[in-house]
Amino acid sequence: MVRVRFAPSPTGELHIGGARTALYNYLFAKQQGGQFIIRIEDTDQERFVAGSLERILQGLKWLGLTWEEGPDVGGSNGPYVQSERLSIYQEQARELVKKGSAYYCFCSTERLGELRKSQEAQKLPTRYDRACFNLDAEEVAARLARGEKATIRLKIPGGTTQFTDLVHGLIKVANNTLDDQVLLKSDGFPTYHLACVVDDHLMGISHIIRGEEWLPSAPKHVILYQALGWEPPQFAHLPNVLNEQRAKLSKRKDGEAVWLQTYQNQGYLPQAMVNFLVLLGWHPQDDREIFSLAELSQIFELERVQKGGAIFNFRKLNWFNAEYIKKLPLVELNQLLQPYYQKINGAEAANKDTTKLTEVLRSRLVTLADSIEQAGWYFAQELALTPDLLTTKGSTAAKAKAAQLAATASLAEVGEWQITELKQAMAKINSAGEFTRGELLWPVRVALTGQRQSPDVFEVAWALGKNETLKRLNYASKVLAAE
Ligand code: GLU
Repeated sequence: MVRVRFAPSPTGELHIGGARTALYNYLFAKQQGGQFIIRIEDTDQERFVAGSLERILQGLKWLGLTWEEGPDVGGSNGPYVQSERLSIYQEQARELVKKGSAYYCFCSTERLGELRKSQEAQKLPTRYDRACFNLDAEEVAARLARGEKATIRLKIPGGTTQFTDLVHGLIKVANNTLDDQVLLKSDGFPTYHLACVVDDHLMGISHIIRGEEWLPSAPKHVILYQALGWEPPQFAHLPNVLNEQRAKLSKRKDGEAVWLQTYQNQGYLPQAMVNFLVLLGWHPQDDREIFSLAELSQIFELERVQKGGAIFNFRKLNWFNAEYIKKLPLVELNQLLQPYYQKINGAEAANKDTTKLTEVLRSRLVTLADSIEQAGWYFAQELALTPDLLTTKGSTAAKAKAAQLAATASLAEVGEWQITELKQAMAKINSAGEFTRGELLWPVRVALTGQRQSPDVFEVAWALGKNETLKRLNYASKVLAAE
């Protein structure tokens, strides 16, 4: 049975790389008919950020991911929050000491700091010197009985450690390059390494799919599995997500662009985000690009994950988003745009039917938030018009005024307020070729939108409807008449 997990630490927002890791785990589970589990790794209590867990889960749900077991849905392998499992780790750590695979260490933080400094000064690898490894059992027992603070360290054995990573292939390390990792801290909390290995085993995880930054830890984990007498799961370490300068995407260099939430707030669609994220390190067999979550759940293959870093390309993301906006059913898109329309027009927008506006904007939106800038004309009570603005380049206000009047008269006659009819009405005016196209259409479009740039005049008039169109044209005529 394939069982995979996403194991975020609640230390901040959901990172793009984390969202990609969660997505790959989910897709692999679905494709294999397996299960996807969420586990919260909160053993580093100093880095805990309130609200982070809720926001991470909310981000995953927004993407459309679901899980069979987790802190919110429960399951038979819980609890799914590591700080609620401390006794389990403590017991395993003591077991390891009994077996001789781990040992108590009484070294103070000061001593460890000095050791590190002196090793650095001598350009030696910084590593615990096993000062406490040779303490005899009686002394250890006595010091523990006195309540002396101690950690438990893994005793890295001699030899080499190897495993096959499903992305990186054979990984082989000489054990003498590894440090005697602390497993249990003196406050009784496990380190990530112990908690992760114990939980992955007890939760029946078959495949560990996680970011490449954990690849150097994997040999230690394999040693820990061996020490505990457990079979290690399979490993797949996913490539880094890089910015366009090919550096690892990071808060320091890339700011809020590293958070999934940022895209959610800007009005990217979850479908577009999923499609974009899946291609950060994975490619289908053909060169198809558009995939739904359901399709990906059938075709995703771990074997097709690349080793090299994957570049986060904004243009590509924008392209996907625009495509998905075009594909959304109109009613749904209109619904999604309501909060943005309300930003322009307050609660008023809620009382207006905006379906036509949405239809006009749909092909021009990259993100939903773009509508804030593009839809202002629709809600405007009175546009800020001037004769100058209403006159196209190289023409005159008099000409603009003539065009205005002719357009008003002709449009007033239109019965069926449809784009074709509107075009015919305008074409009729100019049968004698009195106006250039710009001289005729510019003053009308500006009269309706107040903007130098806006959607096509016929679409605008169609969306506004006959009454509003004529009202705006009349107002513009007044502005021109005042000239
Ligand atoms: N808690 C780790 C993180 O936040 C998870 C590492 C793992 O998947 O083993 O990235």
